[in-house]
Amino acid sequence: MQPAYYSRRKFLQQLSVNAGAVLIGAEGIRMFSSAEMTSPVSDTAADPQASGTVIPRKLGIALVGLGQYSTGQLAPALLETQACYLAGIVTGSPEKAAGWKAQYKIPDGNIYDYKNFDSIKDNPDIDIVYVVLPNAMHAEYVIRAARAGKHVICEKPMAVTVEECDQMIAACKEAGKMLSIGYRLHFEPHNQQMKQLGQNKVYGEVKKIKADNGMSDTDGWRLDKKLAGGGPLMDLGIYCVQGARYTSGKEPIAVTAQEGPKTDKAKFASVEQSLTWQLEFPGGLIAECRSSYSESMSLLRAEAEQGWFELSPAYAYAGIAGKTSDGPMKLPQVNQQARQMDDFAIAVASDRPTPVPGQMGRQEVKILQAIYKAMETGQRVEI
Ligand code: NAD
Repeated sequence: MQPAYYSRRKFLQQLSVNAGAVLIGAEGIRMFSSAEMTSPVSDTAADPQASGTVIPRKLGIALVGLGQYSTGQLAPALLETQACYLAGIVTGSPEKAAGWKAQYKIPDGNIYDYKNFDSIKDNPDIDIVYVVLPNAMHAEYVIRAARAGKHVICEKPMAVTVEECDQMIAACKEAGKMLSIGYRLHFEPHNQQMKQLGQNKVYGEVKKIKADNGMSDTDGWRLDKKLAGGGPLMDLGIYCVQGARYTSGKEPIAVTAQEGPKTDKAKFASVEQSLTWQLEFPGGLIAECRSSYSESMSLLRAEAEQGWFELSPAYAYAGIAGKTSDGPMKLPQVNQQARQMDDFAIAVASDRPTPVPGQMGRQEVKILQAIYKAMETGQRVEI
């Protein structure tokens, strides 16, 4: 029998080779499905048969909401995607529309505002609508997009209540359209490695997880509970919940939570400034998590029976770095958003499930709601 260290090394080497595999063949676009990089116990559902899928044409994506994330990340990523492209925009600002039209060569007929958005149903250039609005607006626009006959990507958090998530899932099902959540880290090699190491018990059973995500400041709608649904937990802590779930491959069963002190009561009048919480998983695993709007943090760490593995930074758009008790992870940096959108386009084109479906978004919103309940009541809340 090989010693555990040897098999761990082989395992890590193999993962390094697999990560980021995208091929373009002479006949069109080929991409390895994310299922090839996930374990059998993963919560992803991609069909391995879809690897090597040939896409006859790039699918058209319309971005709804041209704020920072669309401008800084998604639109540039859509210049790198191979299975989809930026075909249209939906914006309330005519001046933004003019700039985008020139920069991305978007035809006038593919530019919508929030009032005429529903007429997108008549536009064959748009296959996928990507909702990038404040959290409380996600439900309305996802439902309208589905009713217009479009597949949908919705940014995280999926919505501000579980009821809204149910309505969004039902609308897409009724329309026969696919729904996916903008969970870019599921397509990022270091985070995929955490999933592989934890779920395959490469260092034995995971006993403890630490997950911290915070930024030093924020402003605008993120401080307004009506639009954001909550504070840093909704925006940043959701990554900690995700990280704990995909590292362990388990579902949390209960939570306790404590709100942090407010140093600026006016600014944080309607949302928490910071929060710590503890997720209990079956088998005694605990995930200790923190999120904040006044402290920069980015950590995902797992302590297992025979070693540890961690990412720091863990959730950034670029520069994610990881190490294990055996040494540094040697994995490529990728354009996460490009991979995420390409994977969804291929899922749509090949009619296979997305690994980040609406149901996954709903589960996280359900957990976030339980964390807030635990914070407000001071009680242990079962999920
Ligand atoms: P932003 O404030 O920069 O942009 C929001 C956009 O919504 C703007 O174009 C704004 O004009 C428009 N909008 C329409 N109605 C509005 C209203 N009533 N109030 C405020 N804005 C309104 O925000 P953002 O950072 O681009 O975030 C948008 C969504 O994307 C959020 O759901 C956020 O959680 C998500 N996001 C995800 C990631 C990620 O890494 N996946 C990163 C950043 C943001």
